[in-house]
Amino acid sequence: MKIRVGFGYDVHQLAEGEEFWLGGIKIEHNKGCVAHSDGDVLIHAICDALLGAANMRDIGYHFPDTSNDFKGIDSKILLKKTVEIIAEKGYSIGNIDSTIALQKPKIKALIPKMQETLSKVMGIDLDDLAIKATTTEKLGFVGKQEGISAYATVLIEK
Ligand SMILES: [Zn+2]
Repeated sequence: MKIRVGFGYDVHQLAEGEEFWLGGIKIEHNKGCVAHSDGDVLIHAICDALLGAANMRDIGYHFPDTSNDFKGIDSKILLKKTVEIIAEKGYSIGNIDSTIALQKPKIKALIPKMQETLSKVMGIDLDDLAIKATTTEKLGFVGKQEGISAYATVLIEK
């Protein structure tokens, strides 16, 4: 068996009047992510980690933000496609660990729903997707609520 690791990172700007999509679900908040797609940072970080692990470029390469095909797209579709892309090289997901950095709102209670939603999209066990959340102690762009970031590490195998 061949096993490989990958790492992904994503940032989006937060602004009023935008829908807030995170971890595949819509969250009620006075701000949302500014993006060409729905701006789901967690999904984008996971996609980049998967593509990196398979050494198959990055999310911008496969789903360019200059393309109208991806304007306002549900990132769950991109995640499903990413799983298919790495499967072309014979890889499947072992496990995923991730962290979302945001100051507000509190998302602790929403994490099980995110795990359930995303594990279903990827066709993996609930137990193989960890999602953690942290504030940045009011420091930097995350702390000032100007943006949100996410990090993901994955293990893939074939
Ligand atoms: Zn993104």
